[in-house]
Amino acid sequence: MKDKACRVCHKISEDVKVCPACNSSDLTTFWSGFVIFVNAEKSAIAQKMGVTGIGKYAVRMSR
Ligand SMILES: [Zn+2]
Repeated sequence: MKDKACRVCHKISEDVKVCPACNSSDLTTFWSGFVIFVNAEKSAIAQKMGVTGIGKYAVRMSR
């Protein structure tokens, strides 16, 4: 089973119905590419994506 990405905050999670980061139920399995942030506050990519947490985040999503 493919991990789900949150359309709101990009967070990728396994086996969830709501996003653990922002509680959105707007999840999709149609994503490609991911980045892992260990320190989002200092990452220019994270800031560009609007990510504030740490973990695995989808780069692109469709549908
Ligand atoms: Zn989210």
